[in-house]
Amino acid sequence: MTIAAETATALDLGLAWRNRFATLGSSFYTALPPTPLPAPYWVGHSLAVARELGLDPAWLTSEDGAQAFTGNTAIGGTQTLASVYSGHQFGQWAGQLGDGRAILLGEVVAPNGQGLEVQFKGAGRTPYSRMGDGRAVLRSSIREFLCSEAMYGLGIATSRALCVTGSDAPIRRETIETAAVVTRVAPSFIRFGHFEHFAARNQIEPLRQLADFVIEHYYPACRDAANPYAALLQAVTERTAELIAQWQAVGFCHGVMNTDNMSILGLTLDYGPFQFLDGYDPGHICNHSDDHGRYAYDQQPNIGNWNLFCLGQALLPLIGAQEPALAALETYKTVFPAALARRMRAKLGLVDAQPGDEALANGILALLAQEHVDFTIFWRTLSHWVAQTPGHPPSAVRDLWVDRDAADAWLLQYSERLAPVDRAQAADLMLKTNPKFVLRNHLGEEAIRRANQKDYSGVHTLLALLETPFDEHPGHEHYADFPPDWASSIAISCSS
Ligand code: AMP
Ligand code: MG
Repeated sequence: MTIAAETATALDLGLAWRNRFATLGSSFYTALPPTPLPAPYWVGHSLAVARELGLDPAWLTSEDGAQAFTGNTAIGGTQTLASVYSGHQFGQWAGQLGDGRAILLGEVVAPNGQGLEVQFKGAGRTPYSRMGDGRAVLRSSIREFLCSEAMYGLGIATSRALCVTGSDAPIRRETIETAAVVTRVAPSFIRFGHFEHFAARNQIEPLRQLADFVIEHYYPACRDAANPYAALLQAVTERTAELIAQWQAVGFCHGVMNTDNMSILGLTLDYGPFQFLDGYDPGHICNHSDDHGRYAYDQQPNIGNWNLFCLGQALLPLIGAQEPALAALETYKTVFPAALARRMRAKLGLVDAQPGDEALANGILALLAQEHVDFTIFWRTLSHWVAQTPGHPPSAVRDLWVDRDAADAWLLQYSERLAPVDRAQAADLMLKTNPKFVLRNHLGEEAIRRANQKDYSGVHTLLALLETPFDEHPGHEHYADFPPDWASSIAISCSS
């Protein structure tokens, strides 16, 4: 049993806590408080997430708030815990893992009635920390904070980030860095690995309890299916396929698609060595420790499927037979390509589907790959070309290539496809689908460099742009420009 933090000193943030995960019982977690950090200070906060939670934004600038959101003061109504999970890392069974540096505060009932779990990442050691220190450095915390909100701004399912605080406590990585805590928010942080954990130990009752919990609270429609657990597997398969189609369409590489980083809700989770593509290179590997390119950009769809098989394996004792499990997994093969085709059509401004559309999309991807043309700039320039935006000459698209003839040939094909289409409608769709701003590595890096000098304005500016990445934001052209040469030398690896 855990005891809700309701001592006289606990802060009342005015949030409605209900903490359903904690009701699962002690096989699922260890109850423990965060470990304080000295002299915390504010680095960044999202007013949008505060609003979602029903949190008074004044907390996010106050001294008391900095203490509370670093884990230094108990927050009334929370039941702090670290959950246990296992998983496959880089294709190998890794055994028991768990929240090694994340601490769940509990679940808030948001003003709209939705349950939102709140977690601190980097809040100290837990029984699942293994050799780790339980901390996160400022650099990786800023990246997670910004990318969570950037993905949300792009309309991609993701955990959110309420805020980041920092502390000058030294943290040993390759060099000595400083500590930070990100407060993350999601309807649930349950991962594929939570299921794998109990299945691997042949603990069928907690496995069933977890599956029933997830069905009851997050997939209620599965309850009435002939085989609710097969229905759950299928629903997760569909959400995961949709998610990865969105990643591919926006050029997002996750970097560590281990099964312990896969959300049971199909959310983008655990931002580590992620990267948005600069030049379009399908085989791009963003994780410096991914020697064999298991998680390369063009491998993500297959890895998503592989990870779902791990989940299927874990759910098999509940599903009861191979056949319905395989049938549920089989949906990936239709949902993923259909979702990707739909997203590519939207990128091209095509509302209705026609037989040649896939070839048209593949044609441009092949051309982009040939010269590693900048992915985001190409799609945004194409959108403005279709929109006939003043100041965006028609040559702007073809000039992205050295081989302009090949680009011209494709543009001619594309123009023919567009001819019967309402051009204004197409342009409108494209400008809402192809972002002007993505969190490129070098932009994050510039903000981090300034943050290391205690200037957080770069973080704030990026957040404002990335929250509405389809808006033009005049005066901020630098943030939508080609990456500088040094961008390709940024090396980012796992767990920092
Ligand atoms: P990740 O690669 O960040 O998904 O982490 C994989 C596993 O290692 C998870 O169980 C994390 O909780 C754990 N982990 C990563 N970094 C640390 C750290 N600094 N201290 C403790 N555990 C960590
Ligand atoms: Mg992880």
